[in-house]
Amino acid sequence: MFSPLRLTQAVLALSLGSAFSLYAATHSVPLGQIADQQTRHIATYFPGRMAGSPAELMAADYLHQRFNEMGYQSNLRAFNTRFIYTSKDGKQDWHNVSATSVIAARNGSAPQQIIVVAHFDTYTPQSDTDVDHNLGGLTLQGVDDNASGVGVMLELAERMSRIPTRYSLRFVAMSAEEIGNKGSEDYVQRMSEEEKKNTLLVINLDSLVTGDKLYFNSGLHTPPQVAKKTRDRALDIARRYGIPAATNPGSNPSYPQGTGCCSDLVAFDNAHIPVLSIEATNWTLGKKDGYQQRKISPRFPQGSSWHQSQIDNMNYLDRALPGRIVKRSRDVVKVVLPLIEELGANGA
Ligand SMILES: [Zn+2]
Repeated sequence: MFSPLRLTQAVLALSLGSAFSLYAATHSVPLGQIADQQTRHIATYFPGRMAGSPAELMAADYLHQRFNEMGYQSNLRAFNTRFIYTSKDGKQDWHNVSATSVIAARNGSAPQQIIVVAHFDTYTPQSDTDVDHNLGGLTLQGVDDNASGVGVMLELAERMSRIPTRYSLRFVAMSAEEIGNKGSEDYVQRMSEEEKKNTLLVINLDSLVTGDKLYFNSGLHTPPQVAKKTRDRALDIARRYGIPAATNPGSNPSYPQGTGCCSDLVAFDNAHIPVLSIEATNWTLGKKDGYQQRKISPRFPQGSSWHQSQIDNMNYLDRALPGRIVKRSRDVVKVVLPLIEELGANGA
């Protein structure tokens, strides 16, 4: 017989049960495993998540649900943007895009906040040449760039959901990075002056798998005392755990020592918000601009996996770099989790 009371009790028991098992599970799960799993899920189930595409919208909804389950206040943020498409004959056209980012928040007792950012969109072909070279498009899984950053962000969010902090925490899965940091530009534009002032640090996670080494870089405008408590502190923690990590050596004068570039961090840095950028690459190769991720080899003819549909996918990377996704995820979480905990309590 149908009994509403019984049903409520059953539902309550069920939800308490699953909440408990999730809690117990997370505590026994080795570091890096949640990120590894999420990276694989996002790459496999949402290939071609180009800004404004159906796959992007489905990925956004998936991330929104994960954040809600962890107890964060999550919101989808839609915004209109555009990019220039260049045809073979040199003709240039604007392409309009309605993109969607995901913003998850938890308030602390103080007005200041720390923001963790990872873009989840994959590369949109921006010319006929891109299409001819199989760059971006519907089959690009974007494992390295940037399911890996989103996976780590989800693990950090999951583990931080049970650690109280004085400052507010925000996790932003950004869209439209690949068409010129449009998601982060829109995000910064919508921040109030007060919110900007109260943002102690933005941690940007982008492309964590293919590159030789982990790099921790600040923004051009990050004050030295903040860089010390964030970038240098991260390097200290890495050293303590024997994790190979470095900062941009500054061999190319366009990219000063200790600073990163060319991702969502730029929009925040331009607004003079302190930034810590985390990426895996090799700043000593190629033009020494951080774009060559590793030595040129038969597996990586360009010395990178960026935007290449046949390379930045799960099958290929698992074969070329076995065990790398989980190991790199573990390394990043091992450094960034205690850092967020520390900064969340004491500020940057
Ligand atoms: Zn990226």
